Amino acid sequence: MVERQLLARGIQDQRVIEAMLHVPRHLFVREEFSSIAYHDTPLPTALEQTISQPYMVALMSEALEVEPDDRVLEIGTGSGYQTAVLACLAREVYTIERHGVLQEGAIATLSKLGYHHIRFLVGNGTHGWKEHALYDRIIVTAATRHIPEALWTQLKEGGIMVIPVGGSMYQELIQVTRVDGQKSIKEICPCRFVPLIDSN
Ligand code: SAH
Repeated sequence: MVERQLLARGIQDQRVIEAMLHVPRHLFVREEFSSIAYHDTPLPTALEQTISQPYMVALMSEALEVEPDDRVLEIGTGSGYQTAVLACLAREVYTIERHGVLQEGAIATLSKLGYHHIRFLVGNGTHGWKEHALYDRIIVTAATRHIPEALWTQLKEGGIMVIPVGGSMYQELIQVTRVDGQKSIKEICPCRFVPLIDSN
């Protein structure tokens, strides 16, 4: 997976590569898909959600430019796979998922693997997690038309957000850096994510 899907497509960040080598993806997919867990594709999880393609997880992690001392907020825990990769890169990870059932599964897998610096919340991630703000990095793994204002206000000066922005069918993955309070935007690639649901 790492050689053919990540290195061949230009993933270079050594810490991201090590994290992708380290995290056992087969433990995060449904049992019926464990034999194809390392294939070049997203896979369905419960409740019509998806675990992202390995390349997308690596690309987003690389674009997030996580430093070892960083505190990272993730919106859309899902299977917990991206969370595990972030936990290899950051000092603390805060992750929000709207479906309690999905988060329970993620908590079970992640605690079995011994990650103890992850905090979980069930709720609407578009509001962020004010109690622990500000964050050095924010990653959103569901599609939105606009950057949610609450998330933007919870990003530190100099911080980076990675988020898929666009319509319901296709989005652009963007890296947004907070420079003097302003958004400095870099487009990364077109992508396709399940929607970020803004209710509750
Ligand atoms: N990173 C995940 C991919 C999750 S797919 C993985 O690697 O498995 C996107 C997830 O975002 C879904 O689980 C969905 O339920 C969740 N989601 C959608 N809208 C949300 C919201 N407003 N707040 C929190 N989670 C949300």
